[in-house]
Amino acid sequence: MERYDPLKIEQKWQERWAKGEAFKARELNDDAPKMYLAEMFPYPSGAGLHVGHVRNFTIVDVLTRFYRQQQFNVLRPFGYDTFGLPAENYAIKTGISPEQATATNIENFRKQAKKLGFAVDWSREVNTSNPDYYKWTQWCFLQLFKKGLAYQKESYQWWCPVDQTVLANEQVENGHCWRCGSEVEKKKMKQWFFKITAYADELLDEIDALDWPEKIKTMQKNWIGRSVGAEIEFESGKYKIKVFTTRPDTLFGATFLVLAPEHPLISKLVTDNTREKVDQYCTAAMKKSEIERQENKEKTGVFTGSYAINPATGEEIPI
Ligand SMILES: [Zn+2]
Repeated sequence: MERYDPLKIEQKWQERWAKGEAFKARELNDDAPKMYLAEMFPYPSGAGLHVGHVRNFTIVDVLTRFYRQQQFNVLRPFGYDTFGLPAENYAIKTGISPEQATATNIENFRKQAKKLGFAVDWSREVNTSNPDYYKWTQWCFLQLFKKGLAYQKESYQWWCPVDQTVLANEQVENGHCWRCGSEVEKKKMKQWFFKITAYADELLDEIDALDWPEKIKTMQKNWIGRSVGAEIEFESGKYKIKVFTTRPDTLFGATFLVLAPEHPLISKLVTDNTREKVDQYCTAAMKKSEIERQENKEKTGVFTGSYAINPATGEEIPI
């Protein structure tokens, strides 16, 4: 048997595919069934494609070729997810502007994807940092905003006082900034949020109808994490504290009430005697990541100096 020679065989066919626009989607002027197939757009880094990309693209490639053989009119675009922190960090490190570095990286990614022989309609290539593309991202955002599904809220963010920038969870290493190594803090800032929880119930209800492995379905359900319970109001002086519980039937046994260290009422509930201790506790807790805080199974807390009335018993319990 003749040895497979990729340089000879693949180059020949790839040239022929390129010349004849072999994978270009046809105009919609026939009755052929349509199929749109797209993989996750890669982030084009200086290092080039990695094996994980090739694996994902190959799955879509198999589907593309399968449906083409079935006479489907297949549209398979290719694109680059070019916004984000990696481009920014690369620019800071090298002094090359993100626009310039991204253009160079895209060139390399395209060359590599073509060498791999993927059945892509190269006339449908997109770049998410191109104004032609992101005007639609902005349009989508505006639709969400108009429907009240994009909103601003104050929340705590990791902040590096030296770099003067917010940091993502994965950019904080043991309480220190990954870029400059200085100690990070949590800062209260106005941020944009998407109201994805508005769709949680709908999403959850449809999971069982999916033809997916049980393990993945369970993962999805846990990720949505619906718990069914009741909101109960506790009173503390002139303040009302809403508490969510999955076990309202155990309310009689409640002997204390806990607030998260970020709770806006804390500063109102502390007394002159407890303020220092509570401040220390909250500062320390906020320096921990969400994961660290959930990992620690041992419950900790400090007394605010205020009491709430247990609505079931009428008794005072410490907050
Ligand atoms: Zn820093």
